[in-house]
This record gives sequence, C-alpha cells and structure tokens, in this order.
Amino acid sequence: MPDDTNVHEGGCACGHVRYRVESKPLIVHCCHCSMCQRQSGSAFAVNALIEADRVRLLQGDVTEVTVPSPSGNGQVIARCPKCQVAVWSNYLVFYKGILGDAIRFIRVGTLDDPSKMPPDVHIFTSSKQPWLVLPLDAQVVEEYYVTQDVWPKESLDRMAAMLAAIQNPD
Ligand SMILES: [Zn+2]
Ligand SMILES: [Zn+2]
Repeated sequence: MPDDTNVHEGGCACGHVRYRVESKPLIVHCCHCSMCQRQSGSAFAVNALIEADRVRLLQGDVTEVTVPSPSGNGQVIARCPKCQVAVWSNYLVFYKGILGDAIRFIRVGTLDDPSKMPPDVHIFTSSKQPWLVLPLDAQVVEEYYVTQDVWPKESLDRMAAMLAAIQNPD
C-alpha cells in the first residue's frame, strides 16, 4: 500500500480530470527555460518527476499534445480536453538521463496542495527572469545537471529498477 503522507491528488481547473500521485516524486524541478516560460505564460514551470505507473487517473481523460522541448526531441503534454489545463507531460525519447514516457512530469501547480512538492533544484537559470530572486540555499544550475550529482540515492535506485524492468520485461 502507498505511504499516505506521500500520496497527493490533483486535477485540472474544471474538475473533469482528477489524478493521484502514489509516492514521493523522484525529484522536483523548477525550470526557468524559455520554453517553459512560453508554454506556461509565466516565469517558470514546477514539475515533479515520477514513474508514470505511480500516477493514477482517477477521473476523466486527457488529450495529448506534442510541443517543442529544449532538446529538439519534443515533449508530450497531457491536457484536460474540456478546460485545456496541462496536468503532466513526458519526453518522447530518452533525454538527459530521463526515460521518455516512463517518467511523467507532474505540473505541481495542478496538485490540490502544491506546497507538498517544493523544488529540489532550479534548472536553466541562465534564462531566469531577473526580478526573481531565489533562496540563498537553493540548488541552482545554469542549464542542466548530471543526474548522479543531484538525485537522492533512493531516486537513483528507483531509476535503475525502472531501467532494469524495461530491459528485461516479463
Ligand atoms: Zn478541465
Ligand atoms: Zn523548461
């Protein structure tokens, strides 16, 4: 059974889509890249990365839209078909150590309580808006990072387990 303190629900703005995240995320990114700024219409995007099979759609359905990503490979964004709010996304291919559609990027602002998933690391701060001042103790990288340097050991172990499951399906 999932650990209740790490189970969080969220949904779109109109209530059609409801989902549940069933464990702690692997890592939470606050991304300041120019694409996240354009796609969100805001200054950054906060995404919680988690194994796709730990996200359960409780209600409704999602429409998937492919958009550009900094890698050029594209990202699939899942939106509510009614209100068009984006609830999560994934990459189309293996990118910077992240396993394509095996990893879901939950849009933290769609959680019922987004304060449960504060950022672990700020990425692409080279394009951060100058008026935004980050906490002095925040983990910050100008572009991206090496996964082994930033992810907690538990998350690296989970990623290794996922890779093993993909390579040896049975
Ligand atoms: Zn909706
Ligand atoms: Zn970004």
